[in-house]
This record gives sequence, structure tokens and C-alpha cells, in this order.
Amino acid sequence: MAPSPTILRVVPPVETKTHCPYCAFQCGMLVAEAEGGLLSVRADDDFPVNRGQMCIKGFTSAELITHPERLNTPLLRQPNGELSPVSWDSALDFIAERVLALQKAHGHAALAAFGSGALSNEKAYLLGKFARVALKTPHIDYNGRYCMASAAAGQNRAFGIDRGLPFPVADIAEAQTLLLWGSNCADTMPPIMQWVFEQQNRGGNLIVVDPRATATARSATLHLQLTPGTDLALANGLLYLAIERGLIDQHYIAERTQGFDELRRSVLTSDPAWVERVTGVSIQAQLRALSLLAEVESSMLLSGRGPEQQSKGSDTVLSFINLMLALGKVGKPNSGYGCLTGQGNGQGGREHGQKADQLPGYRSIENAEDRALMAKLWGVAEADLPGKGKSAYELLDSLGPAGGIRGLLVFGSNVAVASPNAGKIKKKLAQLELLVVCDGFENETSAFAHVILPTTQWAEEEGTMTNLEGRVILRQRVQRPPDGVKTDLEVLGELATRLGVGTGFQFQNSEAVFDELRQATAGARADYSGLSYDKIRQAQGVFWPCPSPEHPGTPRLFAERFQFPNGRARFHAVPHRPAAELPDGEYPLFFTTGRYKEHYNSGAQTRRVGALLDAQPVARVQIHPRLAAQLSVSNGDELLVESRRGGVRFTVSISPDIRPDTLFAPFHWGGKHAANLLTNAALDPTSRMPEFKVCAVRARKPGKLD
Ligand code: SF4
Repeated sequence: MAPSPTILRVVPPVETKTHCPYCAFQCGMLVAEAEGGLLSVRADDDFPVNRGQMCIKGFTSAELITHPERLNTPLLRQPNGELSPVSWDSALDFIAERVLALQKAHGHAALAAFGSGALSNEKAYLLGKFARVALKTPHIDYNGRYCMASAAAGQNRAFGIDRGLPFPVADIAEAQTLLLWGSNCADTMPPIMQWVFEQQNRGGNLIVVDPRATATARSATLHLQLTPGTDLALANGLLYLAIERGLIDQHYIAERTQGFDELRRSVLTSDPAWVERVTGVSIQAQLRALSLLAEVESSMLLSGRGPEQQSKGSDTVLSFINLMLALGKVGKPNSGYGCLTGQGNGQGGREHGQKADQLPGYRSIENAEDRALMAKLWGVAEADLPGKGKSAYELLDSLGPAGGIRGLLVFGSNVAVASPNAGKIKKKLAQLELLVVCDGFENETSAFAHVILPTTQWAEEEGTMTNLEGRVILRQRVQRPPDGVKTDLEVLGELATRLGVGTGFQFQNSEAVFDELRQATAGARADYSGLSYDKIRQAQGVFWPCPSPEHPGTPRLFAERFQFPNGRARFHAVPHRPAAELPDGEYPLFFTTGRYKEHYNSGAQTRRVGALLDAQPVARVQIHPRLAAQLSVSNGDELLVESRRGGVRFTVSISPDIRPDTLFAPFHWGGKHAANLLTNAALDPTSRMPEFKVCAVRARKPGKLD
């Protein structure tokens, strides 16, 4: 009898449900260990936000986990200036000794911490606690200040609460009119376009406001290609027209808002002819935009960084909210205002205490009751909690003996590339007596570091993130981290012990930190107290506020009331003002910045991924054909772009999609290609957001001596 054939069973790989490490869309993905220690990644069809789609950054995200340049041992700068591998004990002892010495010589405010919108909620929470309780410094802020601060400030002042989108992304598909203001989401978070296309397929209209004819604008029913820095004038002008044409919702204004009379008086000067002169948007286009927004049952205005990253960004957000409130749209189905958060945990990162003025759950560090609650939970005297510290740019501008901050700990942020007027910030970093950088890779900031600590990456740790909708999601661990790296939570715990305050920082795992975060937020505006890892896992994410274990979460806000004691939203009179720096005879062009779909933020990660670098290998300056002819440059030439702060060489890319008076470049590169060497650090007076999106430059072909 012949032997029976061997039956080979192909065992499918075990896939872990987790989320992309990059932007705030936080696409659900399924990750499994594949051959040779690599990870395979595919989009999660079941996750209700991306519904089986991802962008090229997500699909290639696993490449960094096994990247040969990944750090797997601490590095300590030696007297000869070189970085050398050392043990974890040596590195942490060095940091603690220098922190204690700086504190003794110069006081607690001589130290600062800088966090990131890439950190999980647990890390953001523990970093905030570490700064206030272990370093005892007021100075902690994060790179989300460069991203979401204006939208947050505007929403807090108008609605009493800041949640990027007060509704799920699925509502986009149901809006009759969608206005995307200064967001090129077709490039920055491509899977969101499935909701926009669905909206259009149902007969909806799309308006895009952008100085460039972006990939997003090319899909639009109406594109308003305004002059950079004039968004506030245009929004006020649309409100003027709405009042003049009787398109405001008087009943809604009376029932649900306050402050309209003062606002009405303030927009009287924003007549359509003036708006056309200031913004370049014709009266006819203004009328068409207003008609599309106002004469439908449901309309939605979503803003991106274009109008927000200005020295009047928070007022501009308020003008958007004024408009949508006056039209009676906020809190109605498939309608209202929202902002499209940028960084992966840009939402959660601003809720849990790594912002200079905040304690966890959006508590205020200047509110006595909030301070007392947190001091009790953290086991310290309320009087020992420091007050409000400096905002991100102001903190970095204070580095060195003159500014008083002599030691800085940076977690997951590449401030040397991401900050405005970056040349100045690099000089400040060089003056530090202690710079510690916790990251997976060396970058332009760690080039100045005394110590670099190698940390775990997204697939090797767990933690919660809060996506652009306010949905709290769970990143699950896929595999063990390599030998030699630690989680940021472990780093903070071990440093706290060495600084003599270890008891409040010893947690078994990320979930244990989350349990303390839940307690810290109970009863606060961003209330996470009813959440748990299990609940998040089972529900594919839960929207905050979620104040009890039985509570299902809150997908939609404002249907009945706003977050003020009287329940009414607040109008704000916000007259237009020009950008801090406008073109003149010496610097005759506008310069503005943005993203490529292949790269993320400072590019420290994505510039290391082969497919992404192949697709976008260099920083190109987008220039109109007429301007290119004037400057005698062709595609592929080098162009030297100069502002009052520095000069940058870009590769020329000629396109009719940009205005002839404006140059655009991405901010994903460092060194001599860093767009932020040019940008202006003029700050919004409320949000402290720098004016990344508008400055004045001149351009020419570089000469031999340049
Ligand atoms: S970068 Fe954003 S849009 Fe792209 S896959 Fe990741 S989460 Fe999704």
C-alpha cells in the first residue's frame, strides 16, 4: 500500500490590529511578522475611518523597524566631540547628574522638556507629569504648538471645548456642501478623499480655498485661489455677504449663541469690493461660495494648516466659526466647523498635559481647582506645581545662558528642522549645557545632543492615540523590541528614580499609565475616565468625552449645547490684519510651505524609506511659469530663495498651479534645503502659533560664490 501523501497546511500569519505611525487619520492596519524578521502591513478593511485604504507612507511604515540606521544603544558625546555608545546606566546617570547640577546652580526653570504630537496619550501624560513633578519646571511644550494651537484656541474660545472634528469623518460624505479651507488633504491624508468623493457622488459640492491649485483643489466645484495670509479677510467678507443677503439664521443666533451684534458691527468694513482687493477673490466667486454654503440644509467647513499657521491663525479660526454659527450650521447633522488635525496624536497630545498651560484632560495649570486635583493625584503640594511655561518657539528661543534654559529633553520631535527661523534655533541648541534626544534615529536635532537615547517604535509598544475625530484608539504591540532600546515610559521612570522622585513613575506597562490618566481626566473637559483598553479594542475606538464605564462615548458634540455654563456658543469680532511680513521692494515674493504625500513632518523617518525617497528625492520649489521666465530658470535648475532670516537652495519645479507672486516648498528636509530657514517666527498672540505660511522672499539663480 502506497504511503499517504503528507498534507502541508499553510498557516496564515498572525495579524495584529494596530494603526499607522504617521498622521492623525490613524489608518487601521493589520501587521504580521513575515520572513527575515520583516513586518508585513496591509490596510484594515474593518476600521471605519480608512475602510481598507492607506497611503504610501502607511504601506511602507514597517521599513523603519528594521532599518540599518536605527539606534540600539545610548550615545554619549565625548570630550573630543564624538558620540560614543555607552550603557543605559551610564547615559541615565550622566543625564541625572547634569540635571541636578543645573537645578542647583540655576534653579528648576533652567530645565525644559519638549514633546511631540507623535507620542501616545500615555507618554504625553507622563512627560507632562515628569516636567512638573520630577524636573519641577514650568517649561514644557511640544511640536503640536506648531500644528494645532490656533484651531484649539479658536474652538475653545467659541465652543468652550476643542475637539478637532466634533463629528465622525463619515459625516463628510453626507454634507451637501463641503468647504476645505487651506487643507490639501488629497496629499496629506489621501484616504480621507474616499469620504469627499462619496460626498461628491451624492451630488454634493466641494469648495477649496488655497493659494495653490493643489490635488485637492483640482477636485473642487469651486476653487478660491486667494493671496497668502488673507484668509481672515475672505471669511469676514463671506459673513458680510451672508448678513447683507439675509442668509444668516436669526432664530439659531438668538437661541444658541451670544455676541452677534458686536460681530455684525465689526464686519461692516468687509464689503465684497474690499475683500476682492485684499484677497484677489472676485466678488462673483465670493457670492458663489456663500450661496453653496448657505443655501443648503447641511454644510461643513474644515480647516487645515494654511489659515491656522499664521500670526492671526486663532482669529482666522474664529472667523470660520463665526460664519458657520451665523449660518446656523454648527451642531446640525452633517454640518458645522472642524479642523483636520495633522500629527498622529495631535489631538490627544494637546489634551494631556504636555502643553505649557495645560494639565491632563484639558485642565488648566492656572486654575486653582485643577491644580489641587492634580497635585493630590500626583502626591505633591499644590504650591509645588509650577505655573504656566513658555510656548514651543519661545521655549526654544530661550535656550542658552541668555534665555535661561540650559538643559532640554526632547521626545520624538526634530525641532532643528520643524521650527520657524530654524537657523536661529540651531544656534540656540548649540548653547545648551545638556541636550537629551529620545528617538529611534539620529536627526538634525540630535546632531547637537549630549546624549541620545534609543527608544522603541510603534510596532514594539502599545498605547492609545486620539485621532482627528476625537476617537481614542489603541496601538497594539506587534513584536518585541530589539535589545538595547527602551520605551519613553521606561526612560521617564528611570530618570525620575535617579532624580529622587521615582515612586510616581513606576508603571508595569502603558495600560497602567492609562489608568492613572483616566483618573486624572475624570470630570474634566476631555474626560477619558470611562475608557479602558478592552473597551477601545472592542468598539474600534471610543470618542471622548466618555465619563463612565457604561457610557458609549460621544461621536457628535454641540447638538444641544456648547461647553459654556449657559450652553451658548460665542461670536468674536476679529477684524482682518495683514501678515507680519509682506513682500516689498527687497523681498518681493510670498513664500509658503506645505507637505508632499510621500513625506511626513521633518522627514526624519520618511527620508529613510526607499520607496518614499525614490518618489520624492529632493525639496522642489514650485514656481509659476511667468516667474520662472523672469528669473531665467528651467525645471531641475537650482534656485536660491532668500528671506531676511536665511537662504535655501531648492530644485525648480515649474507649474501653473501656483500664483505668480508666490513660491511654495515642502518643509520635510533639513540642512541647506530646510524651508524653515526662511520662515518667520511671528507668533499669534493667543495660540503662540508661528507664521509658517507667509513670509517675504526673493529668488535668483545661485552664483559661483553662493
Ligand atoms: S500617513 Fe495618514 S493617511 Fe497615510 S496611511 Fe498613515 S494614517 Fe493613513
